[in-house]
Amino acid sequence: MEITNNCIVLKFGGASVSSPEAFSSIADIILHRKKMYKKVIVVVSAMGDTTDELISLAHKVNPNPPRRELDMLLSVGERISIALLAMALAAKGTEALSFTGSQSGIITTNDHANAKIVNVKPHRLLPHLENEKIVIVAGFQGMSLEGEITTLGRGGSDTTAVALAIALKAEKVEFFKDVFGIYEQDPKKNVQARLFETLSYQEAYDIMNKGAQVLHNRCVRLAEKNSLPLRVLSFERYLDEKLGTTIQDTMNSGHNTTYED
Ligand code: ASP
Ligand code: MG
Repeated sequence: MEITNNCIVLKFGGASVSSPEAFSSIADIILHRKKMYKKVIVVVSAMGDTTDELISLAHKVNPNPPRRELDMLLSVGERISIALLAMALAAKGTEALSFTGSQSGIITTNDHANAKIVNVKPHRLLPHLENEKIVIVAGFQGMSLEGEITTLGRGGSDTTAVALAIALKAEKVEFFKDVFGIYEQDPKKNVQARLFETLSYQEAYDIMNKGAQVLHNRCVRLAEKNSLPLRVLSFERYLDEKLGTTIQDTMNSGHNTTYED
C-alpha cells in the first residue's frame, strides 16, 4: 500500500486497553494506519478502571487528597498505557516512542483536576514524526505554565487527541471505541438505536450533553473551533470503512489554531 496521506491522530480509550493482550490488538490497528499515513500520533487513556482505582487508592490514604497530588497520581494511569503500547509495537518489530503530556508540550491552566489546554508546543514530537516513527502520547494530562502536572477532567484524553491534531495539522482524529459510532440512544440499552453516519459539531455536542459518554464534550467544541474532522469507529470492526460516525461541518472554514477558552 502506498502512503498517500500525511498526518493522523488515533485515540484509544480505556475500554480498548483493558487487558495486557489488548495492547497487541491495538498495535495491529496502528500498524494498519501507518501504511496509509506518514505521521501517526496515538493518544491513549489509562487501562480499564485504572483511574477510578487510583482515585479510591488516594482516598484510602487521605479522604480529602490535595488536588495537586491527585493530579500527580492520576497522570500515572496514562503513563502505564503509553509505555505498554510502545512495548507492544516493539514486540511486532516497529519502533514507537511514548511521551507524557508535559513532554508533548500540552500547556494548560493551573486548575488541578479540570485544567484547560491553552497551547500545544509539540517540539519534542516533531523530529520523530519527520523520521516516520510512531509517536504515543499520554492523554488527559498536561503541564501548567507554572510547570505543574495537571489533568483535564474525567474523559479528558479525547481533548488531548484533538488539541494535538490541531497543533500538528492532522487530517482528522479517529476515536476507537467499543461501539460502532454515535447512536441516537445508548446502544447498550437499546439494540435498535440508530447509528449516525454523519453529525455536525453542534449535533454531536447536543448528544454528548444529553449524557452520551462517547466523546468528551470539550473535544467537540475544540474541533469545531478549528474545523477538524472527527471520526468515531469500532476497534473491532475498524476495517469496515462504512461503519462509524463522522463529525464535521459541511461548511469548512479552514484551520485557525485556537485552543480552549
Ligand atoms: N483516564 C481518564 C479518565 O478515566 C481520562 C480518560 O479516560 O480520557 O477519566
Ligand atoms: Mg479513562
